[in-house]
Amino acid sequence: MIIDVELEKNEILKRYRKLLLLAKKSRDDLDKKQIRKAFNVALEAHKEMRRKSGEPYIYHPIAVAQIVAEEMGLGTTSIVSALLHDTVEDTEITLEDIDNMFGPKVCLIIDGLTKISGIIDHSDPNYSIQAENFRKMMLSLSEDVRVILVKLADRLHNMRTMEFMPRHKQLKISYETLFIYAPLAYRLGLNAIKTELENLAFQYTETELHNEIINKLKEGQRKLTRYINKFSLPIINSLTDKGYDFEVSGRPKSPYSIAQKMKSQNIPFEEVYDIFAFRIILNSTPENEKSECWNAYSLITDMYTPRPDRLRDWISNPKANGYESLHTTVMGPEGKWVEVQIRTKKMHDIAEKGLAAHWKYKSKDGSNSDNRVDEWIEKIRKLLESPHNQAIDFIDDVKLNLFSDEIFVFTPAGEIIKLPIGATALDFAYEIHSRIGDACIGAKVNHKLVPLNYKIKSGEQLEVLTSKKQVPKQEWLKIVTTAKAKHGIKNGVKRDRKIIATDGKEKYNRIMKGIPEASPELLPELISHFGTSDAVELFVKIAEHKIEKGAIKNYISQRNKHQKAAEDALLKQVVKSKAKGDGVTAKSFKKEDVLVLGEDKDIFDYKISPCCNPIPGDEVFGFVTVVDGIKIHKTNCPNAMHLQANFAYRTIKAVWEDKSKNEFLTGVRFTGTDDFGLVSKIVTLISGESKLRIKSIKFDSDHGVFEGKVMLFVQDTKELLDLSNKLKEIKGVHNIKRIHTN
Ligand code: MN
Repeated sequence: MIIDVELEKNEILKRYRKLLLLAKKSRDDLDKKQIRKAFNVALEAHKEMRRKSGEPYIYHPIAVAQIVAEEMGLGTTSIVSALLHDTVEDTEITLEDIDNMFGPKVCLIIDGLTKISGIIDHSDPNYSIQAENFRKMMLSLSEDVRVILVKLADRLHNMRTMEFMPRHKQLKISYETLFIYAPLAYRLGLNAIKTELENLAFQYTETELHNEIINKLKEGQRKLTRYINKFSLPIINSLTDKGYDFEVSGRPKSPYSIAQKMKSQNIPFEEVYDIFAFRIILNSTPENEKSECWNAYSLITDMYTPRPDRLRDWISNPKANGYESLHTTVMGPEGKWVEVQIRTKKMHDIAEKGLAAHWKYKSKDGSNSDNRVDEWIEKIRKLLESPHNQAIDFIDDVKLNLFSDEIFVFTPAGEIIKLPIGATALDFAYEIHSRIGDACIGAKVNHKLVPLNYKIKSGEQLEVLTSKKQVPKQEWLKIVTTAKAKHGIKNGVKRDRKIIATDGKEKYNRIMKGIPEASPELLPELISHFGTSDAVELFVKIAEHKIEKGAIKNYISQRNKHQKAAEDALLKQVVKSKAKGDGVTAKSFKKEDVLVLGEDKDIFDYKISPCCNPIPGDEVFGFVTVVDGIKIHKTNCPNAMHLQANFAYRTIKAVWEDKSKNEFLTGVRFTGTDDFGLVSKIVTLISGESKLRIKSIKFDSDHGVFEGKVMLFVQDTKELLDLSNKLKEIKGVHNIKRIHTN
């Protein structure tokens, strides 16, 4: 392609001058020097670049600036931002350069514009969520609403010049326009831009239907024009008679809105009755605008019968986006319904250009342009945040005032993630996937490395850094805010603990294999000995070397020593008792039986007589001697007859009784200083001296202090009390308490 450089230069300048001219038309407060500077910077930055069409790239920023100035009525800051809007993203120019050359305000707008650059894929199943998030993000990002306005202008120009794009890109951009940009334009009251965006997108997304509607409108145009003339003539005459300054226009509705009607009512083109809208624009003074609109309404409805259900009074109650107008539908000639819109010039400008047009009417005092725009922005912001939206015809019911506690960030692939304010890089990682969260070691924010607890801000692009070696940590719970992240961390920690516990259990089993005395009963003892809450915790601590093999071995050997000492002491006692009975054999000694004497069945000290050697179960009697106390003889002892006959007063009734029948199981618990001799003393006292039968005995020792538990049989509480008193006398025994179970 041969390019005539001179010709191009001239064309660029021509376009620039046209921009200035149109801008001056809608604003008389422009800073031409700033605009010139921005133009020169953009021209230089984009000088090597061309659009898909082959045209110099600079045509695009000039066109965007023109939309901003002419169609939105914005001033210097917006025009400058529009001229520079693609420089930071596509050229060598940095935000810092912009800040230095044009100040912080323009810099902020360019920054916002650069961030809102991703295209959302309409084939994504979450498309509508993505689109809504994107719209919200734009609003939350836009500390300055001009970011959105310049973005809209950018999009409008791209849509107008999309014919050189490949088909798939045309589709992507068109869907995005329908879902995001047209609704935004509507919210901001930019109706003309909204309608144009919709129609341009419609042309690409549903080319056939679009062409069908265009063709049918063309075919019927002559007929339609005739009809409109017929309909409007009496109105024009009547309004002229009354002395109104006005314009009328009757034009077909946009192909997109006709298509919407066909679809929502499921009817062919021919059945859409209000194919065109008839508009009356009155040139009234601010004081008279309302009454003149209503007067016009009354004139028209005198001529044509209105449908009462179709009256819309947007004058008394303007739409949230600032739209003011009076709509009615009347029965025209040939019995056809016609929609009539009545509004003033001012209302019309606002409807087409949005709230920016207000300023054209409100202050012509030449006050600082930035202040005026700031006030306007404030107004839009309030409108967007207004909670009173019952009467508002919002395109959806999302409450914009909720945005303040949400932030919107990008994945590297350009997907938008919504998070609550205060969310960290770790929250973001878990939002993507719990596996990503579990393995997260940090993130890159706009290519800079940040830690897990980095608080992310709207518009940032995050890339999560992961490591296979990373495991979720309990402490992470402190740095996340989303439920998803909290849940993920808890699960991850649990899962990780289970894996560690499995390791720990294997290790535990290996330790146990090396200890001959090991038994399954040891596990609960070890759990309580090491102060762990359950086996999992014990195993985790073993795996993490918090409990070492030595400590386990040590505990087991100490425990076995105690156990052995207690058992030895008991055995010794039994052997002693046996020895007491002189000739009584161990085999014949029945522990359950005890000898009771006298009518009251008291227990006394006695001696078994060696002459007949009675054993429990034998019929016996006692004989009281001076030297040996009570001696027990069998009733059939050879001596017995003699003794009973001559010394009847010294005999005493004696019966073996199964003592356990009258016994009660009880127990005592006590602590003491760890001394093996002590254990033996205690056992001797209980089973020897006090003659109480022990059911179980257990001594636990920890750091030189032991706890003893003895379960035994007593006949009454007195026995237990006696035992307690005797135990108290043993040095080193403390805190004796009665217990009922072991
Ligand atoms: Mn652009």
